[in-house]
Amino acid sequence: MTETTTLKDLFIDELRDIYHAERQLVRALPKLAKAATSPDLREAIESHLAETEEQVSRIEQAFEMIDEPAKTKTCSGMLGIVEEGSDVIKENEKGAALDAGIIAGAQRAEHYEMAAYGTIMAWARALGHDDVAELLSLSLEEEKAADQKLTELAESGLNEAARNGRDESRQPAMAGTTAGNSNGNGKGRGASSRQRGGHR
Ligand code: FE
Ligand code: ZN
Ligand code: FE
Repeated sequence: MTETTTLKDLFIDELRDIYHAERQLVRALPKLAKAATSPDLREAIESHLAETEEQVSRIEQAFEMIDEPAKTKTCSGMLGIVEEGSDVIKENEKGAALDAGIIAGAQRAEHYEMAAYGTIMAWARALGHDDVAELLSLSLEEEKAADQKLTELAESGLNEAARNGRDESRQPAMAGTTAGNSNGNGKGRGASSRQRGGHR
């Protein structure tokens, strides 16, 4: 039998969901920071971890404002995003390419949160809880800024480093191929690798 769900029920459910999501991130972000190679990336993740802890307490405040106990409801969406992030860490060695992968995962988390806060704020206002909407808008702005910071890090050289890093990791295999192979194409690639080395 289906029960009639009110907007209030949905609102509380969504608050419990983001409460669980944020708490998952408090545990996951230190792992991402530890796996990061770029000091700038590590710093960005660590500073967002501090914000995330504050966001958890804002949600607890929001529960108080609506006279509801602060409870979590399993956020399967964030569980999946966090799991994908830990897979990337498990499957890749430290370096610029892994940094690019960490950024990709972290941005998925930020966008998920941005969507959740947008909904929760709209429902809070619809239910007359403008105070809750205003409080959580601080968290939404932090998520947007964190996302923007990650984009800047990626585009200010991390993606490029990841591309070059990948090429360099292929060098030993190429060198081996070129040594015993008169294939012109292979030689050409070997030469360009050496050339790149010479610029260092
Ligand atoms: Fe958050
Ligand atoms: Zn969720
Ligand atoms: Fe966040």
